[in-house]
Amino acid sequence: MLEPTTPVQFVKGIGPRIAEILAAKGISTADDLLHYLPFRYEDRVNPRGIAELRVGEMATVIAEVRTSGLFRTRRMPIFQMTAGQGRARLKCIWFNGAYLKDKFQPGQMLALYGRVEENRGELQLVQPQFEILAEPEGDAEQKAAESLEIGRIVPIYESAGQGKLTTRWFRRIIHSALENLTPELPESIPAAVRKRMNLVASRDALWKVHWPDAGESLNDLQSSRTAAHIRLIFEELFFIELGLELKRREQKAQTGIAFKLNDRVREAIKKILPFHPTGAQKRTLKEIAADMEKPYPMRRLLQGDVGSGKTLVAFEAAIIAIENGYQVALMAPTEILAQQHYFSARQILEPSGYRIVLLTGSLEDDRKREIRRHIAQGNAQLVIGTHALIEQKVEFDKLGLVIVDEQHRFGVLQRFKLMKKSGEGDSTARRASLDRTAEGGRPHMGTAGGAHSGNDNIAAEPDVLVMTATPIPRTLALTLYGDLDISVLDEMPPGRTPIVTRRVGDERANDVWQFVRKQVTAGHQAYVVYPVIEKNEETELKAAMKMYGELSKKVFPDLNVAVLHGRMEADLKEQVMRLFQQGKIQILVSTTVIEVGVDVPNAAVMVIEHAERFGLSQLHQLRGRIGRGAAKSYCILMTGGKVSEEAERRLDAMVRTNDGFQIAELDLEMRGPGEFFGTRQAGMPSFQVANLIRDRDLLELAKKEAAAVLAGPNSEISQSEIDNALRHMRTRWQKTYGLVEVG
Ligand code: ADP
Ligand code: MG
Repeated sequence: MLEPTTPVQFVKGIGPRIAEILAAKGISTADDLLHYLPFRYEDRVNPRGIAELRVGEMATVIAEVRTSGLFRTRRMPIFQMTAGQGRARLKCIWFNGAYLKDKFQPGQMLALYGRVEENRGELQLVQPQFEILAEPEGDAEQKAAESLEIGRIVPIYESAGQGKLTTRWFRRIIHSALENLTPELPESIPAAVRKRMNLVASRDALWKVHWPDAGESLNDLQSSRTAAHIRLIFEELFFIELGLELKRREQKAQTGIAFKLNDRVREAIKKILPFHPTGAQKRTLKEIAADMEKPYPMRRLLQGDVGSGKTLVAFEAAIIAIENGYQVALMAPTEILAQQHYFSARQILEPSGYRIVLLTGSLEDDRKREIRRHIAQGNAQLVIGTHALIEQKVEFDKLGLVIVDEQHRFGVLQRFKLMKKSGEGDSTARRASLDRTAEGGRPHMGTAGGAHSGNDNIAAEPDVLVMTATPIPRTLALTLYGDLDISVLDEMPPGRTPIVTRRVGDERANDVWQFVRKQVTAGHQAYVVYPVIEKNEETELKAAMKMYGELSKKVFPDLNVAVLHGRMEADLKEQVMRLFQQGKIQILVSTTVIEVGVDVPNAAVMVIEHAERFGLSQLHQLRGRIGRGAAKSYCILMTGGKVSEEAERRLDAMVRTNDGFQIAELDLEMRGPGEFFGTRQAGMPSFQVANLIRDRDLLELAKKEAAAVLAGPNSEISQSEIDNALRHMRTRWQKTYGLVEVG
């Protein structure tokens, strides 16, 4: 009997070589194999008669090969095959179809799937997918296998190993695995939950998701909404939510710092305010302050579209910690952004006498050592640096608050991975407190940290505030950042005029440059952004530099034009940014280094070259660099060469809306959650069967049920059921995220 945990290489029909191919698909156990779901289904119970086909539909046709051959046209070889049912004929064509030359023999049975089109009054299938069902004279064994291919609803799987493992291979292997599967599949979802959710049994779900009953709705199958699908999807989401919820509860159970928020602190905050905070800023600060006052550590996400004013809120929170006698660390994703924060911090906080240091990799070693000493001795109150730098080996005297300015597209899975790398929860925070413990617990200064009165030896966890510009739809945010509480900045500072976005082909570049000149002459500044993607960094950087040469020498020889890119020395970068900030540079030609966080309100124009190459969220982030002052701002999306249909949709969306949430939804929809949240890039497993967009409703339900389970035993759920669910959750989490410390 096959156990779910059996390594896939011991499943009948699979050996070490195939196991390797499967591993690349994330399939390592029998259970993984059984959760490799069909991406669509073909109704071969009621395949279509050729005569019933209608133009424009996607159809499955079962027919016999009659004739086939390769035709060479002037433009490309076209392979043509005529299939027949009795007297009816259907033509199928494949462009560039030379590879099909010896594929078909007259008399073979085929299942064909494709769009029905009309050509000169004749119906045809263009580029259909096909499967050879039976040879003209097949043997008995083949006939048996055929029963998996015809006369039922047939699952279609994505192939693997560059086509080595075909849909048909998966069908047979999965079918035989199901037949051998142990009848005793343990149930880990509590009965009450299963009942409320109407979940079918696990074994049943696995069978039917691969081999649906003949009467099953094809529509439900394609949209993953059969009872079988729902069971498997809910199960996956339920155990993720259970882990997240548990993590959250545990964080709350730790010892934190109970900051005091008295009139003195309030006065200190008021003193620094350069402008009236927006309603949203006030509200989020209140939420943050309430957390900070509590005796357990804050874990809060501050979510706000680019330009919504997260920085000010962060500084206000910093003051609460500093006024309570604690230090604050502010971590930025890039050195430029760290510098940017440092500029703002000095402008806003230094007049009140707060001591701020910037710790970047480009500093001289001596200087770095000196700054580290300041930090260790508690002289530095606000420490700003890049993630990497602060995470390394900074020793704080008394760290009370960590602010993480996240790069957008930084999902929960990545954070888990980071945590795992550093061995524990939020690494800086943890290390800082561990260091203190290791030193025997340095006595706290004053009476500020009232959380653990009478026991100064227990190291309190610092509070953590994560800032993100990823405008994740709220339901998703709740789940992806399920271990965090969320505050949303949903209001822009006043006085912004909406950005006008236009799209032009680069044949009109001259008009664009003329427009830029007009704006710059009127006193504004401009960005010209050029895409440099890591993959083609060398050649693209060259192109960007050439562009810069042309703009600075030929197009705008009389204006101050400078360039900024990732390969430049850090102090040179800093200098350029400073000059741009001071208005001494009028046009900044840049690669995407300006993407995150730069704040120059006088910049009112942005030209994005080859806009078709950028992702939607990225374009939106870039555009967020302008429209920050009172002047009307313009974003010009220039395209060069061919623009794909997808790129067309992205550009369209940019022209149509400034709303980060709308853009995020569309981006999510177009790219899928894996790409959107960067989980794929980070090499993280994506969901096994769930899809965060499609399954949002189930996600909400899973979250609710997980919370109910963790609320403890009652008349419906017993303690042993809860223990059982938690045990199962830990195994899954460990397998998926490599995390042992959950729970
Ligand atoms: P982000 O949320 O993208 O980090 P920033 O904190 O950089 O946004 O703020 C964007 C711009 O808006 C900055 O120039 C900042 O000074 C300004 N700003 C922030 N809050 C307000 C406010 N309440 N009133 C006016 N301007 C504000
Ligand atoms: Mg910012």
